Order: sequence, then C-alpha cells, then structure tokens
Amino acid sequence: MSQPINFYRPVSDNEVPAFETWPVAEILALYELPFNELLFRAQEIHRANFPEGDVELATLISLKTGACTEDCGYCSQSIHHNTEVEPSKMLSLETVMAAAKKAKENGANRFCMGASGRSPNDRDFEKYLNIVRSVKSLGLETCMTLGMLKEEQAEQLKEAGLDYYNHNLDTAPSHYNNVISTRTYQDRLDTLGRVRKAGIKVCCGGIIGMGESRQQRAELIAQLANLNPYPEAVPINHLVPIPGTPLFGVEQLDPLEFVRTIAVTRIVMPQARVRMSAGRHELGEAIQALCFLAGANSIFYGEKLLTTDNSEAEEDRAMLAKLGLKTRESTEVKARMPGLEEHDHAHSVL
Ligand code: SF4
Repeated sequence: MSQPINFYRPVSDNEVPAFETWPVAEILALYELPFNELLFRAQEIHRANFPEGDVELATLISLKTGACTEDCGYCSQSIHHNTEVEPSKMLSLETVMAAAKKAKENGANRFCMGASGRSPNDRDFEKYLNIVRSVKSLGLETCMTLGMLKEEQAEQLKEAGLDYYNHNLDTAPSHYNNVISTRTYQDRLDTLGRVRKAGIKVCCGGIIGMGESRQQRAELIAQLANLNPYPEAVPINHLVPIPGTPLFGVEQLDPLEFVRTIAVTRIVMPQARVRMSAGRHELGEAIQALCFLAGANSIFYGEKLLTTDNSEAEEDRAMLAKLGLKTRESTEVKARMPGLEEHDHAHSVL
C-alpha cells in the first residue's frame, strides 16, 4: 500500500509539531513495507526535516533509585520484583551538579534526570525544583522523569525552567495490562496532558520486545503519533531483560524489527527527535547504523542509563565518527560561528 509522504519545514525549538491523524492500519502498512522501501521513505522524511542530519546527545542520571511501589514488568527498581538493585537515597545537589558539568564538558545537549517512584512527594519535589534551577543555570537543556504529576507540580517544574518531561506510554493499550497493573494507561495520558498544558515539552515513547505483536507495536506508535501535538522527543527502547523481572525470558525480538520501528516512528512523527534508548548497546553497531539511516537522531550518551549499562562515551564517539555523524551541538556552534571547523570546537565529538 502506498503511503503519502508529508514534508514539513525543519524543526526549530519554538515550533509545535504539525498534527496529523494516523490510523493503526496505516502504521501497520508501513511496518509491512519491504525493508529497503521503508528505510528509503524514512530517510527522505528525515532529511527534509533535519537537513543537518545531526545527532542529539542526552546524558541520563538516576537521582533516586529503587524501592518503587509500581510493578512495571520490565523494571529492576520495583519492590515487586526480586532483582539486584539496591535502593539509594536521593543524590545531593552537589553530586548532580558535578555530573551535569561533566556531561556538558563531554558535549551533551540535554541532561535527563530520573527518579524511581509512582509520583514525587512534597519533600522530594522541592529538591527536584532546586535541581532543575541549578542544572538549567549551566546552560544545559533539562529533562526530568518523576512518574505521575499533579497539575500544580507540572506548573512549578515549568516555572523552575524545566524544558522536557519524560513519561512513556510503554506499550499498546491492548498489551498494557500484561506489563503493568498499578497505574492505568489513562493515568499516563493524564500526566502527559498536564505536562503539555503547563508548557513543558513532551518526551514520550515506549519499549518494544515485551512480547507484543507487530500490530501492538503499531498501536503504540499510533497512540504517540495521535497525541496532539505529538511528542517533541520519542525514545524507543528495546527491552533489556533483567533477571528477577517478570519479562525476563520473554522471546527476543528480531533486531530488524527495532529498525523498522524507528523508521515508522520517523515517518509518522517527522519533526520529533527519535531517540535510541535502552537496549542500544546490546543491538550492536551495525543495527545502530541502520537505526540512524531509519531516522534516529538522538542517543543517551556517556552515563549509566538508569540501571542498565549504556555504551560508554568513548565507544559512542568512535561510532559516530565512523559513521560521519555530527552531533547537535557541533552543528549549532557552526550555525552561530560560520567558518569554525568541527575540530576547532572543544565539545565536538567528531
Ligand atoms: S519504571 Fe518507574 S514507575 Fe515503573 S517500577 Fe520502574 S521506577 Fe517504578
């Protein structure tokens, strides 16, 4: 089946993504295209929307780990699962700032901060606001993932200077109850609505390889694409099966299906930063190269990705250099200072 290709103007930080409704059947039809045809279409749309072809580097830190009362079936931090994760207290502001400075020195554009738990309590929340203000003062973009938010919490985070809030839909509505029982799909959509209403940019994606069907992967992508507007950042995670979690031992997904998912995401959300997230390292360099071709243009970089191992910064630098991929920071510096070569810029990873 032939799909119309819509071209949009290049994305800018102040633009709200254009909205288009995507029926699940049309998204499934994209999945079913011959692999090369799908990648070709995705790359065409990618180039039209991101002519620089740069890759955003986001560094992630866990502010508070473990002891979570939710029961997400993939997560090592839930008290319902028997994993090796040791709960930790919240990091001090000094520790967070030292990590943020290091991330900036290493060329990260965005500093993403996660805390385990269903939703932030009042005492912790004050500390999170302070952390946002402080990290923001370094000139980094800030993103937080703290679970479900109340309306006033979203507004306070916005006031503190938070740029992005991450809250994933995780999977298709029809697969959701097989993965999580302690909060509903609607709870997630409600938090996303509060974040959007407060004027914070939305980072929202999901995890594939959790035993869902291709149809259900298409349902997840349709949920994301049909948010109005769709998220500015869409992390696509590949399940990292963790011993002791209910999803450990689930049948492994064909890695090319991950590439297809990236391509479909790029086509239906043309202006979003599509991020290869957890599971990237395990997929190896060749699959990651295909993902970049399919339209991925953001990666987690240089720090531990919550509790799963992420590729080390050095390996990532080498991979990006091998593929001739620029980072978002290097293209922005060039735009501000025409004539500056990549190797003149201290933070360039090339
Ligand atoms: S994913 Fe988040 S909410 Fe779910 S169990 Fe893990 S820490 Fe808790």
